[in-house]
Amino acid sequence: MPTSPIAGQGGACGTGPHVLVVGAGISGLAAADRLVSRGARVTLLEAGRRPGGVIASERLGGFVVEAGPETLLTARPEVARLVTALGLAERVVPGRRTVPPAQVLRDGERVPLPDGLAVLVPQRLLPVLTSELLPWRARLRAAAEILVPRCADTADESLRSFVTRRLGPRAYEWLAEPLAGTLHPGEVGELSLRATFPQLHRDEAVHGGLARAVLHRRRTWGRSPVPREGEPGLPPASTLRTGTAELVEALHRRLADRAEVRLGTPALSLHRMDGGYLVRIPGTDLPADAVVLAVPTPRAARICAALDPELTALLDRMPVATSLSVVLAFREADLPGAALPVCCHVAATEGRATRSISIPSLRYPGRAPGGTVLVRVALRADRAGQDDDAQLVARARDELREILGLSVGLLWSRVHRHEDVLPRYTVGHQDRVLAVRDRLRSRPGLAVAGSGYDGAGIPDCIASGRRAADAVLDRSTEQCHPVALTTA
Ligand SMILES: Cc1cc2nc3c(=O)[nH]c(=O)nc-3n(C[C@H](O)[C@H](O)[C@H](O)COP(=O)(O)OP(=O)(O)OC[C@H]3O[C@@H](n4cnc5c(N)ncnc54)[C@H](O)[C@@H]3O)c2cc1C
Repeated sequence: MPTSPIAGQGGACGTGPHVLVVGAGISGLAAADRLVSRGARVTLLEAGRRPGGVIASERLGGFVVEAGPETLLTARPEVARLVTALGLAERVVPGRRTVPPAQVLRDGERVPLPDGLAVLVPQRLLPVLTSELLPWRARLRAAAEILVPRCADTADESLRSFVTRRLGPRAYEWLAEPLAGTLHPGEVGELSLRATFPQLHRDEAVHGGLARAVLHRRRTWGRSPVPREGEPGLPPASTLRTGTAELVEALHRRLADRAEVRLGTPALSLHRMDGGYLVRIPGTDLPADAVVLAVPTPRAARICAALDPELTALLDRMPVATSLSVVLAFREADLPGAALPVCCHVAATEGRATRSISIPSLRYPGRAPGGTVLVRVALRADRAGQDDDAQLVARARDELREILGLSVGLLWSRVHRHEDVLPRYTVGHQDRVLAVRDRLRSRPGLAVAGSGYDGAGIPDCIASGRRAADAVLDRSTEQCHPVALTTA
């Protein structure tokens, strides 16, 4: 147990229990916000110099450059309510209604992505089954999906196994892999179907297959899928005027006078203390009645090592990946004549370092000044992870020239790395999360939150932070059962 002096708690307002939140990404900010609203005294520790974690928007002479997420799913109530509560509704920028179609690079050729897919879940059959993306044999194989029997095995299955079993190997290589890889960094074949594409799992479990599920939805909902609506007045997917970081900046401002926010302050380790915990930070220890760890799972594992080696071992079983991207600005006049796609997904079978190329300034207005275009190249960390920044830019430029024919007119470039922080929900993920939760039952007043557990999208992280806040305040939660939260 550390013996260094206990730091003061100035700035943590309220009269309730004192809760330390570690990590000021969206999950930690959402947890802190919830705790404050329930009367807790909150200290928020952030290792970096700014809040937001992977959500960061750079504003560069009229450009809005996202280092992390580009899209807020305002269709999801977690995001819609927060945006509205923070007074940001007027600043919401909807995605453009018409954008050039996305493409997939396969066999060196850019082929349009078929219509009728919503995050890999088929909404319409014909466009998928007639798409030139798949050669005719592969189309016939995909069309035979309706005859493939429901899998009797109830164990979790990988995305590769599911798609290959139901639709054939080509549908995995040229459709599922490139699309899933744009959403989930790292190798996607071993992703857990249930944790990453639960709707596909449900479609088979409930309806007997994907085609049968589409037919059922069409019978139930009519000819078009039920439109997904956000809060009244908000579009389903959007950004904010000067980038998604406005969300975390506004949350940080709201917390500033209601909680103690310590930037540049990493939590080093966690220890039990009578009735609560001690969190070691550089130079001192902070006491708290309860703790929410809202950091990537490898960081949470290290912080818990002295307190609970078993919990550390469980957290260490949750793999993470690195995200690498290069954003480049080009002069529009120098672009090749052919229209650029809003996104080009690159199949792994192409053997390239590029995972996808997207054009944020086509998707959202206001991302680049007139006469310029923003291009984002997402790279595979397993093929480019050892490169330094100059090599990454050179690689991105080479691939842009070869894939899109973009070679001249470069104005500037930016490299963004998020190392070992992105969760990889591989087969068995949900069991590993349950094991962590079970272990936390024996640690009253300790909870975990963040993208590592129940979904990596911003809405999932907001929900996760809020659940963790409730878990440490309520005795009867699924995550932990605090026994004696003191109010000292
Ligand atoms: C490139 C990219 C694109 C994405 N696109 C989208 C998108 O379009 N839409 C969408 O909904 N989601 C998207 N996501 C996912 C989403 O942005 C993330 O899952 C989410 O922001 C993660 O938030 P978090 O708070 O859980 O973790 P993080 O953002 O990783 O925050 C964790 C924080 O903890 C801090 N920390 C770490 N260790 C310590 C310590 N010891 N002590 C104190 N602090 C510590 C870190 O500095 C960091 O600030 C994207 C993610 C990436 C990387």
